[in-house]
Amino acid sequence: MPPLKVKDGDDTVFIEGKIDRIDFLPDNYVKIIDYKSGNDKYNEEEAKSGWKLQLFIYLKAAMSDGRLPAGTFYFHIKDPLIDLKNISAEDTESIENEFRKTYRMDGVVVDNMDVIKNIDKDLADNGGASYVIPVNIGKTGMNRWSNVMSEEDFSDLLDEVDDKIKEMCCDILDGDISIHPKVHKNESACTYCEYKGICKFDVQFDGCRYEKI
Ligand code: SF4
Repeated sequence: MPPLKVKDGDDTVFIEGKIDRIDFLPDNYVKIIDYKSGNDKYNEEEAKSGWKLQLFIYLKAAMSDGRLPAGTFYFHIKDPLIDLKNISAEDTESIENEFRKTYRMDGVVVDNMDVIKNIDKDLADNGGASYVIPVNIGKTGMNRWSNVMSEEDFSDLLDEVDDKIKEMCCDILDGDISIHPKVHKNESACTYCEYKGICKFDVQFDGCRYEKI
């Protein structure tokens, strides 16, 4: 996958990364999966604010040849813990279903039933809850925890992410390389950063501060 290019006048910033998994779906749709061992949760507001842009940057890179967004997801790969206190040990089907629920991906999917059924082929025609993606279809449409977005809203969100990426790249091109890692609740960009030992970020120093979102 070629790097994502962000242009600012004559300058171009190339953004590279390693996408864990890309699935090309019928009708020119594309879906991204990012495997996670931590507790990352999809949050639209965080992406718009420039915090945790990864899922959308990967999706944009995968769409660079004109593909359409099917969805972008975290897949948590840590060993699941299942609460079986209300399930009998003989009820293997319920146990298996509880197990499958823990592997349901977290993210957003486009509100298009053909695409949804291409991602989860086991989703019944009459709806129900998917064990694969955050979609729960009731008689009157999507249920409460479904994380679906219309094609138009998906496109608007990608435009907002685009603007955020451009703003950040322009700041760097303008020479602003001050260290302001973002912090949200109890987690900061530094929490899982591999460069902690060498970057010298320390709030004791002038100019080093967290950007709260
Ligand atoms: S540890 Fe340093 S390099 Fe890593 S996110 Fe924090 S400030 Fe940035």
